Amino acid sequence: MIIREQDMKNETDIDIEQAADFLDLSPSRFSELLDKKLIRQNWDQYNNLFRFTNHISDIDTGSVLLDHNGSFELVKGFPKIRRAMLLEPAIQANFSDNSTVVVEEKMNGYNVRILNYKGKLIALTRSGHVCPYSTERAQNLLNKCFFEEYPDIVVYGEMAGPENPYVRKDIYEIDSLDFFVFDMRRKNDGGALPVSERRTLAEKYGFRQVEIFGEFSIPEAASKIKNIIKNLGDKGHEGVIIKDPNMVLQPIKYTSSESNCADLQHAFKFYNEAGRDYIFSRVVREGFQSAEWNESEEELMERCLRLGESILRPMRKSIEEVQDGARIADDSRIRVKDKKVIDEFKSYLERLGLDVVFSPAIKVGDEYIVDIKKINNSTSDKTLGIIKGQLWS
Ligand code: ATP
Ligand code: MG
Repeated sequence: MIIREQDMKNETDIDIEQAADFLDLSPSRFSELLDKKLIRQNWDQYNNLFRFTNHISDIDTGSVLLDHNGSFELVKGFPKIRRAMLLEPAIQANFSDNSTVVVEEKMNGYNVRILNYKGKLIALTRSGHVCPYSTERAQNLLNKCFFEEYPDIVVYGEMAGPENPYVRKDIYEIDSLDFFVFDMRRKNDGGALPVSERRTLAEKYGFRQVEIFGEFSIPEAASKIKNIIKNLGDKGHEGVIIKDPNMVLQPIKYTSSESNCADLQHAFKFYNEAGRDYIFSRVVREGFQSAEWNESEEELMERCLRLGESILRPMRKSIEEVQDGARIADDSRIRVKDKKVIDEFKSYLERLGLDVVFSPAIKVGDEYIVDIKKINNSTSDKTLGIIKGQLWS
C-alpha cells in the first residue's frame, strides 16, 4: 500500500509548552502551526523530527526541530542564495562593506545537511525530510568523528554525481555520488563558520569540499569571475558562489551559459510540466550575460545557437518518442550497500507523491544498483493528445 504524506496526521506527544518556549512562540501558536501542518512531524524512526514547511518568525522553510524527549535543538534550513544577473554591479552592491570576496564552485547536485542523530549520521534534504538514500550514502562517505567532536555543528553540502535520484550529472569525474562540503553552521542560531575555518576543519576530517578559486579584491572580482565562469562553462560545470570570507553577508550565485542551457534542455524534454518562471528566468540570464561581457557577433551567434538548441532539440525528441509509442520519463540510478534502503527509498518517494518505477536490484561487488524511472504523464499525455489532433488550448 502506498502511504502519501498529504494524508498523514501529526500524532505527536511532543511537549507543546516546552517546544514553544524553545522556539520563542506561544503554546497556542505552536499548536496552531502543528494543526495547520506548517510544522510537520516526521514518521517511523524519525518521528522526533519536526519540519517547518513555511517560513515562520525568523525560521526558514526546511528548518528541523529535534525533540530529545523534552530538550530541543533546531537545525536551520539552508538560506536562499540570491542571484547576480550582472556581476560587476551585484558584487559592488552586495559586498560594499568588504574589501574581498571568496569565490567557490557552485556544484550542481542537491543540497543536504548532515548531522549526528542518536549516534548515526542522517541527511536532511532542503525541505527538511530525512532522505534514506542520502542518509545511507552519508554514513558511507563521511568521517563520523567530526560530528562526535563538534556536536553543535551541522555540515551542509552538495550530493553530486551520476548516481543521483534528484539531479543526475555526469560532469564531475565521479563514478557514483559524492558529498562536497560548502558550509558549516551552528545548531540553533544557524550562524555560519568563516570560510577559512570551515575549509580547514573539512580538510582535517578528510571531507571532500567544493573547489575554491580564490579570494579577490572587490574591484577585480567581476573580471576574475568572468574567466572562471568561461572555464567552468567549457566543462559543463554550473557556476560560482561569491561569499563574504566571514560569512556574515549573504552569498550570491552566478552561473555559466552552458549550465543555464542544460537546465533548459531538461525542462523542454518535459515541456508541459516545467514551470514558466523556471524557463523564462534562464533565458533572461543569457541576455544579461551576453550584454555584460560585451560579446562579439561571433560569440553572440554561438550563444544563440546554444540557447536555441537547448530549447528545440529536447522538445522534438520528446514528441518523436511519443509518436513512436513511448512515454516520457526521467531516468536515474542509485547505488546502495544496504539492500533494505532500496525499499525505504521507494516508499519515501511515493510518500512525497512521486510516480516511480524501480528496476530489480543488480549486485555489483558489495553494492546494489537500481534504475529508477520517474514517469511524467503530463508531457506524454499532452503530446499524445496533440498527435491525435487536439488543439493547444
Ligand atoms: P536558492 O533557494 O538558494 O536560490 P535553489 O534551489 O534555487 O536555491 P540553486 O540555484 O541551485 O538552488 O542555488 C543554491 C544552491 O546551490 C544551494 O542550495 C546549494 O545546494 C548549492 N551549492 C552548490 N555549491 C555551493 C557552494 N559552494 N556554496 C553554497 N551553495 C552551493
Ligand atoms: Mg542546485
